[in-house]
Amino acid sequence: MDLGIKGKTAIVCASSKGLGRACALSLAQEGVNIIINGRTRAALDQTRDELIKLAPSGVGIESVCADITTAEGRKALLEACPNPDILVNNAGGPPPGNFRDWDQQDWQSALNNNMLTPISLIKATVDGMAEKGFGRIVNITSAAVKAPIASLGLSNGARAGLTGFIAGLSREVAADGVTVNNLLPGIFATDRLPSVMKYVATSTGKTIEQASEMRRLSVPVKRFGDPMEFGQLCAFLCSRQAAYITAQNIVIDGGAYPGTL
Ligand code: NAP
Repeated sequence: MDLGIKGKTAIVCASSKGLGRACALSLAQEGVNIIINGRTRAALDQTRDELIKLAPSGVGIESVCADITTAEGRKALLEACPNPDILVNNAGGPPPGNFRDWDQQDWQSALNNNMLTPISLIKATVDGMAEKGFGRIVNITSAAVKAPIASLGLSNGARAGLTGFIAGLSREVAADGVTVNNLLPGIFATDRLPSVMKYVATSTGKTIEQASEMRRLSVPVKRFGDPMEFGQLCAFLCSRQAAYITAQNIVIDGGAYPGTL
């Protein structure tokens, strides 16, 4: 299927690895010019080279090495691409833990990284999209927004705040051809997985292998997600065909969310 977005331009935040990288690659394969981002130059350069190889010829791949959670980082990204057609918001998630150990600074940091950073990038780009009559905003959040896990309290709280904001904004810009959706990953095989499993192993007295196996078997499809499955769904949400999908929280978790709706 031709997604009808060839020649568009996308900012994909936090995309040198993992889910962000898969979104960038899936969009690049559709002929979208991409600005990728990450804080580590070597990983970013490697991903840029891979994307150039895997994208159709003529697709522009630029990289901006910056911390997206800082005002300077966002400025650098927006200078490289002031008027994107597509914005994929992403950043590292807050660490797991016990809420009794978190202080004001931990909460401020989670709110800044996983709520206020995407809101500020949306603020900088959404009106330009509306003027063009086309825009796609996808926020990478977490399945924990729908089914919170206590140890991910910082993530649950900050991402729920973003989700509430998006519910209002998405309706406000819907008539201008701009869609805004949240993609909620369950458990995916990215570089982040070992650190998550280490925390589960430590808090349950299991080995990392045991914790990992239990987690894998808890997913109805009995495997972790492939990041490209996530990236391709993101690319579809950015397509012409997805123009009637907005204000949604779309879970992609191998059936792990147990509710009927
Ligand atoms: P990952 O594999 O660790 O990749 C994270 C990417 O983001 C890397 O490219 C990293 O590069 C970049 N990054 C992190 N912080 C950044 C910052 N401040 N500024 C710019 N780039 C930054 O992680 P992932 O699994 O793809 O997870 C992505 C998001 O989805 C996270 O918020 C995570 O909590 C959430 N999530 C993931 C899963 C899952 O199963 N994978 C499930 C639920 C939610 P540098 O470190 O070099 O900057």
